[in-house]
Amino acid sequence: MPASPSAAPAPFPTPALLPVDLSVIIPIYNEEANIPTLYERLRGVLDPMGLRYEFIFINDGSRDKSLQLVQTLALRDERVRFIDFSRNFGHQIAVTAGLDLSVGEAVVIIDADLQDPPELIVPLYQKLREGYEVVYAKRRSRQGESAAKKLTAKLFYRILASITNISIPVDTGDFRIISRKVVDALKQMPEQNKFIRGQISWIGYRQTYIEYDRAERAGGETGYTYRKMIRLALDGITGFSDAPLKAATIGGFLVSGVAFMVMLYTLYARFVSGDYQPGWASLMVSILFLGGVQLIAVGIIGEYIARLSANVRQRPLYIISDTNITPPPAH
Ligand code: UDP
Ligand code: MG
Repeated sequence: MPASPSAAPAPFPTPALLPVDLSVIIPIYNEEANIPTLYERLRGVLDPMGLRYEFIFINDGSRDKSLQLVQTLALRDERVRFIDFSRNFGHQIAVTAGLDLSVGEAVVIIDADLQDPPELIVPLYQKLREGYEVVYAKRRSRQGESAAKKLTAKLFYRILASITNISIPVDTGDFRIISRKVVDALKQMPEQNKFIRGQISWIGYRQTYIEYDRAERAGGETGYTYRKMIRLALDGITGFSDAPLKAATIGGFLVSGVAFMVMLYTLYARFVSGDYQPGWASLMVSILFLGGVQLIAVGIIGEYIARLSANVRQRPLYIISDTNITPPPAH
């Protein structure tokens, strides 16, 4: 026990001293409106389960009071652990850091905005105990999201499912429970461009799901801009499929084939039939079309090369500016 009330709280015991049954990983980006309710609801669910658990909040460069709120919780409750990033590294990296530093036998990944209902942790955990290594939560419906977001999400999950050679479940985010085995496997996957739900599918083992209705965001605003969503979608596709590269090749052949026919026809018209027009329109159309196709193909290659070079650079995935997790992380 600390000698005086002002002494710093005892550091969280290391895993050897205290086994943890469940780690709850919560990425945080400007979630001050949700953190207090989230904490209360999580405790309301976890305390009756009678488990030894820890919370890992990852502050992903929030510009509001999220960090202070989490730090205050950590002073009151030693199961609250936090990682404060030096800047915004993105949701997938925040989850990765949480996985790296978690010690639980099972790990839940959950959004901070209460769109993923904490109450679902009970059935997720039960299923895991039945002998599954992964139980993911599949969205039966989504509320409070724009028609555009729902449509793009729906399309994305289906395109991804059709072009990858592993089966990535549709309409499923990162809300799930995974066993320590799966966490250890994830830690061995060094890619820089994380698409965690794809990686977990790739890992295999016995996986199952339960369905739920996705609620509206409780407070605050989405941190997932269209830019971030497109990046995630491209990471998912490039990380798990070469289909776009192949499509570029096939498209290139098709377009060249058509261009070759047109060329033959042009030569024929110019030298044999003599029946040719100044032809400005057709010239413009074919130049623009070919130019467009080439740029798309080069762009696709560029997406892959950008990811290749990110992996060659081998930078650390994230920089931690502060944490109450001991011993200091090595990742
Ligand atoms: N988040 C994050 N970094 C970001 C964006 C989001 O850690 O750059 C967190 C956010 O605080 C939330 C979760 O990731 O806990 C999901 O984000 P959000 O709810 O904004 O996404 P949406 O549900 O709108 O897809
Ligand atoms: Mg959300």
